[in-house]
Amino acid sequence: MKTKVCELCKMEETTLYRVQIKKGKIWIFVCESCCNKSKNLPDYRYGGTWKGYRH
Ligand SMILES: [Zn+2]
Repeated sequence: MKTKVCELCKMEETTLYRVQIKKGKIWIFVCESCCNKSKNLPDYRYGGTWKGYRH
């Protein structure tokens, strides 16, 4: 099982969400709770889900 580190809270997770939280083309991977918090941001964009256990 693969993991990635959430770029906001630095927790290691097996499922992360590809999101933009700032204007521009920078995508980051965040955990579910950070993804939910980021949804309130005006520049939030969702770009897909990453699952470590598929590989
Ligand atoms: Zn997080």
